[in-house]
Amino acid sequence: MIKKNPTFTNLAAGYLFPEIGKRRRAFAAAHPDADIISLGIGNTTEPLTPHVVEGLKKYVEGLGTPAGYSGYGDDSAGEPTLREKIASVLYKGLVSADEVFVSDGAKCDVGRIQQMFGSDVPVAVQDPAYPVYVDGAVMVGAAGKMPATDKGYQDIVYMPCLPENNFFPDLSVVKPNSLIFFCSPNNPTGAVATREELKKLVDFAKAQGCIIIFDGAYSAFIRQDGLPTTIYEIEGAKDCAIEINSFSKPIGFTGVRLGWTIVPKNLCFEDGTPVQNIWTRLTNTFFNGASNIAQAGGLASLEPQGLEETRKLVDYYLENAALIKKALEGENFKKAGVEVYGQGNAPYLWVRFPGRSSWEMFDKILEECHVVTTPGSGFGPAGETFIRFSSFGHRDAVIKACQRLSQLKL
Ligand SMILES: *Cc1c(COP(=O)(O)O)cnc(C)c1O
Repeated sequence: MIKKNPTFTNLAAGYLFPEIGKRRRAFAAAHPDADIISLGIGNTTEPLTPHVVEGLKKYVEGLGTPAGYSGYGDDSAGEPTLREKIASVLYKGLVSADEVFVSDGAKCDVGRIQQMFGSDVPVAVQDPAYPVYVDGAVMVGAAGKMPATDKGYQDIVYMPCLPENNFFPDLSVVKPNSLIFFCSPNNPTGAVATREELKKLVDFAKAQGCIIIFDGAYSAFIRQDGLPTTIYEIEGAKDCAIEINSFSKPIGFTGVRLGWTIVPKNLCFEDGTPVQNIWTRLTNTFFNGASNIAQAGGLASLEPQGLEETRKLVDYYLENAALIKKALEGENFKKAGVEVYGQGNAPYLWVRFPGRSSWEMFDKILEECHVVTTPGSGFGPAGETFIRFSSFGHRDAVIKACQRLSQLKL
């Protein structure tokens, strides 16, 4: 018999979404007539927009002709036209095309990136956080050497992000030469770091030899003027930050699959090797490039008509979020001291139920409203007592869910 890689020994069970599914199924079995609505997962629900569909179609038709056919791309970093468009349209020239590495999605790159750093690098994460950062660190052996407790893994530095600190962490807990995972707009809290906050983060990383892995998967949801939509708006970020991003949420490519990662030319390892060299070596080994069809769709989304459609699509989810926020600010919630966080720059609302556990509230909302949510404790120890409400859903279902939430007895 072959032993498993020891890095998996202390990996906590993939607990959150399977457990949510289990409770939902048990409820549905006991109440076969209940019309269950999900405000739970971060998955898009609205159709692709016309200009993007046109881009996909044209490319597919081309593939069926001798002139339009193409196999593997010239390198795994993506079609030059798409890399150029991402740099000029989404980053307004703050990064250059040869710093853009097109991928099959942000999650995949979070996994690949950790392989560049291996098992000796200290890891710091926002708490609560997207679970992939921590699980990825455990799988490459950078964490999880010591068993997890109810406060998380002993060898990961959790940086609590709470209303009390405006969801921006105390960086002094981070060890020198750490990988710092930072997500803004944040999943699950919906908080967006201000320019001043990101400057603090960048200055800290530079002074302490850290690399920031900045996850901007929700940058298209930022509507408030003056909030940074990329870390490269901050001076010095190109010396200390990699940015991971995705077409999944803004253009509904969760199933089509397309993302990108920015690796700045100046970013180097301790021995002077450019991170780009290692990244290129790694991705050329394990990755043969994103689907050329998906890339054609992504390119169409960056043309003027595509950008206009994207804005409307994102607005749709933001309007859902505003409706849910209004319901959660109703009298029944107010009287119970419930706190609702969400500034209208993310598809999530982060809601604190003082004195109650996340799972207790999850069960109560499922049983009384027939609405599925996500318990905050699943995103990290600091998520306890919170619930995440997702605004991904069809409008009629969201309205119905809001009506039921208004009747919830707390
Ligand atoms: C949804 C999401 C992603 C997107 O991942 P893809 O693999 O591109 O679909 C990345 N980061 C966070 C925080 C997310 O919520």
